[in-house]
Amino acid sequence: MAALWTDVFADPQILEELRPIAIDKALLQGVLMRTKDDPNSSEVVNFAPFTLLPSPVPKALFDQAKSVQEDFNLLVDRISQDPLFLEQTLSSTMKVDDFIKRLFEIYRHVQDEGLVQSVFLGINRSDYMFDCRENGTSLKQIEINTIAASFGGLTSRTPAVHQHVLNTLGKTEEASKILPNNPSFGITNGIAKAWELYGSEKAVVMFLVETTQRNIFDHRYIENELWNRNIRVIRRRLRDVFERGSLNAERCLLVDGYEVAVAYFRTGYMPQDYNEQDWEARLLMERSKAVKCPDIATQLVGTKKVQQELSRPLTLEKFLPDQPEAVARIRETFAGLYTLDIGEEGDKTVKIALSDPEQFVLKPQREGGGNNIYGEEIREVLEKVKDSVERTSYILMDKIKPQPVKNCLLKANGRLQVSECISELGMFGVYVRHGKETVLNEGVGHLLRTKATEHADGGVAAGVAVLDNPYLV
Ligand code: ADP
Ligand code: MG
Repeated sequence: MAALWTDVFADPQILEELRPIAIDKALLQGVLMRTKDDPNSSEVVNFAPFTLLPSPVPKALFDQAKSVQEDFNLLVDRISQDPLFLEQTLSSTMKVDDFIKRLFEIYRHVQDEGLVQSVFLGINRSDYMFDCRENGTSLKQIEINTIAASFGGLTSRTPAVHQHVLNTLGKTEEASKILPNNPSFGITNGIAKAWELYGSEKAVVMFLVETTQRNIFDHRYIENELWNRNIRVIRRRLRDVFERGSLNAERCLLVDGYEVAVAYFRTGYMPQDYNEQDWEARLLMERSKAVKCPDIATQLVGTKKVQQELSRPLTLEKFLPDQPEAVARIRETFAGLYTLDIGEEGDKTVKIALSDPEQFVLKPQREGGGNNIYGEEIREVLEKVKDSVERTSYILMDKIKPQPVKNCLLKANGRLQVSECISELGMFGVYVRHGKETVLNEGVGHLLRTKATEHADGGVAAGVAVLDNPYLV
């Protein structure tokens, strides 16, 4: 990949001068995050971490990621309507993974009882890295996030920051090439459409939020945009729903006297997000008529186990029989994925992983960063679990090897230094289905996150990756 901005990175004095210019612009733009020390107060806030300059992204791969997003939306939505596939795919995993088991129990419960929800809203983000091999660089999907896909708000404000930095460097032509990006607008459209189809003017959109709300500004963009459209928004924790939520005779979800049209999850994807009461709240919501984003089925579609099973021959065709081009576009983005289920195939996976662990990533069914296993540690873990059902809580994936490029990561209280970095490109997708009819399906923008190569894993929230913009090359 072409090295960019080499003149800037070679000059420590320019970097020092640029830093406050970039940070002040980020603050003015509202690229904000609450502080680690006081995560529930907006009295004093930090800028959200970001790169000093945009990172190079091959244009062809960016276009490819963009053009496959509607296919992924459709695929996720179709899988979410296939109980048999979900049951078969997750049956081994749920025996050993308590979190997946709990989610699946709720799924079964609502399936058996029968759904009253008729409007479905998906807000997802498909993440990719650029795999650099001898025969060229290709786009490979890391995962698809079907719950609480974040940073659509903040990233809508970062293009102006990099434009400004480039302008101050006299690079006006380059500045004009920074792509406009506004996922928060598209995400709001999706929520507003679902709210409208729910069909009750008084009903509200409820954001389900964590107790610790450091990334609140990312939510606020979407929230305020909804208010601008005269849609009332409330923010509640699962615990609040447990304490003060109920269903009426039509199974409308009521919380604090409000009828909830859309329940938008910005929490609920990790075991730590739930105690027993929170699980009850989740069940209550799933049983309700409210549009859950995501519903429990769609959350399950986002598991790494489903991702791995999709890579089997003919599985995509099963879900998109009418769309061979979409199948080809989707498959093109798949890296090698391998089952660790008990049996011959899983035994073979263990063998290839042990023989060359550097080529793989071992993934449990977890979201939120920091859970994957790399290199020699793969060997340690697999040696321990390889002969037991424990191993089925993981999948194995080919390790993507991007070409590092230089950038400066600006973090609150961080040191100014040039690092070797790699980027991950996310594409936001939104869809709405009313009964059987898809009424909205679109890509709504992108997110580029960049981190120093010394970190194998970890997102922006974990303080590892930072916000970025693609500079198409
Ligand atoms: P999570 O749900 O925790 O976000 P991911 O699958 O996105 O799980 O993995 C977390 C991080 O680990 C990614 O952001 C990426 O940096 C790294 N990673 C994941 N899969 C791979 C892979 N196949 N090759 C290289 N790095 C990977
Ligand atoms: Mg991820």
